[in-house]
Amino acid sequence: MPKIWYRSRKYQVIIIALIIFCIFYYTSLGDNLYREPNLDLTRRWPKLRARTHWLARPKSTLSRLASLESLPVSSVAQADARHAPRAVKDLNVDSIDLGLTNTNNRYIEKRLEEALKEDKGTGCEIPKLDPFAKEVTQFDKELPKIVCQGQDWVKCYHAECKVVQKILDTTTNIKCTYNDIIYKSDSEYKIGPDTVVAGKDAYTLTASDHVKVKCTGNHVNSILPSKWTGHSLGFRSTVHPKKPPPRRENTINVLILGFDSTSHNGFIRRMPKSYRVLLDELRATVLSGYNIVGDGTPAALFPILTGKTELELPDVRKKMKNNGTLDSMPFIFYKLKEDGYRTAYFEDMPWIGTFQYRFNGFRHQPADHYLRSFYLEESSRGKKWFNVGSNNKYCVGDTPQYKLMLNITDQFLKLDGKRFCFTFIADITHDDFNMISTADDDLVHFLRSFQRSGNVEDTLLMVMGDHGPRYAKVRDTLQGKLEERLPLMAIVLPESLKRERPNIQEILLSNADSLTTPHDIYATVLDALDLRQHWNPYKVTGADFTRGLTLLEPIPKNRSCSEAGIEPHWCACLAWRDVSQDDELYQKTANALVNYINSLTESMRHKCAIRKLSGVEWVMRQRANSRMLSFVAAKDADGYVGQFGARVTPNTENYQAKIIVAPGRGVYEASMVYIVKEDRFEINSRDISRTNAYNNEPSCISDTHPHLNMYCYCND
Ligand SMILES: [Zn+2]
Repeated sequence: MPKIWYRSRKYQVIIIALIIFCIFYYTSLGDNLYREPNLDLTRRWPKLRARTHWLARPKSTLSRLASLESLPVSSVAQADARHAPRAVKDLNVDSIDLGLTNTNNRYIEKRLEEALKEDKGTGCEIPKLDPFAKEVTQFDKELPKIVCQGQDWVKCYHAECKVVQKILDTTTNIKCTYNDIIYKSDSEYKIGPDTVVAGKDAYTLTASDHVKVKCTGNHVNSILPSKWTGHSLGFRSTVHPKKPPPRRENTINVLILGFDSTSHNGFIRRMPKSYRVLLDELRATVLSGYNIVGDGTPAALFPILTGKTELELPDVRKKMKNNGTLDSMPFIFYKLKEDGYRTAYFEDMPWIGTFQYRFNGFRHQPADHYLRSFYLEESSRGKKWFNVGSNNKYCVGDTPQYKLMLNITDQFLKLDGKRFCFTFIADITHDDFNMISTADDDLVHFLRSFQRSGNVEDTLLMVMGDHGPRYAKVRDTLQGKLEERLPLMAIVLPESLKRERPNIQEILLSNADSLTTPHDIYATVLDALDLRQHWNPYKVTGADFTRGLTLLEPIPKNRSCSEAGIEPHWCACLAWRDVSQDDELYQKTANALVNYINSLTESMRHKCAIRKLSGVEWVMRQRANSRMLSFVAAKDADGYVGQFGARVTPNTENYQAKIIVAPGRGVYEASMVYIVKEDRFEINSRDISRTNAYNNEPSCISDTHPHLNMYCYCND
């Protein structure tokens, strides 16, 4: 009997060598994997280990406590029951875990209470930042646009999936096998049974919104059979929203369209056309004082979608090893479902999902329409993204992924009944914010179609970012730090609501320069939907207003960061503070002002005396707060606690001073700009005022040089 080939020593050696080579190649691949810079710390790529077992839970049990800054133990002893996370029994977590969340929450509450004593009622001066300042534009670069190859054979629209005309025109004997991609939980999905559909017949979505499709056929110009495999998505016909309660049949729709890592200024710079369309055509109100309340994506999305912070919600982080999921949290999706809304939550990049990367995710999909299982299948659980040399990672079939997100959102808006949609796009901004420009034209198209198809009548639109870019280099600049804290928030009120409440557009506009937060967005959405009963009444201890305030009522101008629930290191507000007499700038500022006054009378020195400083009433400095200037990054993986380092030195600082000069008694107040690097002041005579009467001090020059009246003290 002849020897079977694989029994021969020669082949065995070859096979072993091949296996070794494959293992070696696979491991080496790991080191070449794309690694992002330190962007969204709380939403970082899984490590290589996660590439193979991507759902494996991190083993690290590093306690959150260990990373806290020296914690005043006594201050965390008792938690305020109103704000404490849910009771242990509905959570099924052990009390130690709960204690940790509680401790962190108390710690942050305590910090806010302390900060409130300092800043209560001081209001907020939003820094006026030039979107095109060199400090930040140095990081801009032009990247090639995303171009996707090929032609999808099958597309779905609402519940109907069929072969597109272009393929029908060129291909005969088409047979397509459809498999539903069925959601089981955030970590699990199953592929439904085969259904074969021939020719131009349609497949109706009933079991799922998404399908995997394999087609074969004969191209008219080729003797070889042609085939296509891909994924498509629409809306299954089997979702029937509840009947709205009486008199709530016609409440407005909501679309919140978010882009990861998109600051207000970044959007102006990199999405100029969309920005113009939002302002000029949709008459959007863009908030210039919209400030983040914590680190990373979850810190923005929890407040917007639940009205609470992560620490006020059950602790369902993976590392806590409890079975808790986000299903127990008070998401707005659940409230609106009860109110008869059809809900959608669309997010891309499931392997770093906002609520799945650090958390256990959902056991049941939170919204009627939810893309998680679709993207898990389509991206082979994220492997697509990490394939070396893969140039289609930004594409789903023939369509850029961000465009698919816009398309499905647009389709959702065309469904009937009341609608609430939250769409969050990350792939084109998360790696490199410059990439977002590729979507400018498509977003313009989306926004115009939103307007043309009448959505402006009854749909509240918000276009937002969760936070600004977080590259280490950007964070080294003051403007970069401020931009990180000031994400995009553009709001378009529906016409029907404006008719019902005629002054809200004006009020919203007057709030554009006030300090606002994601907590306010939650309150605003509920206000617009006339569901104020779900507002969160929480107040920081000692505060006069609730932490979240609706933007459809005037936001008090004296609202400060602590009152709005913003810890000092996230607070972008500039504040005027007294400069102490020991500060070298105290004397420098006063001297610079006298010298400037003397320089103004220099040409008339034979008549006007040199004035000398006889007293300093006060000197004030306007600054971003010191915690913000020295904030480096989050200290712990959850982003609860800040790590502080050397302060970023601003290029300029604003000062104000009130001085008294002799001879005579001239009292002056002035605003001055200090150029830090050059250690000099820039002063403009328009920014100086004389606050006491000069009487006949300048009599010798009044007729000839009246513009020097307030500075000159005549020698004679
Ligand atoms: Zn983010």
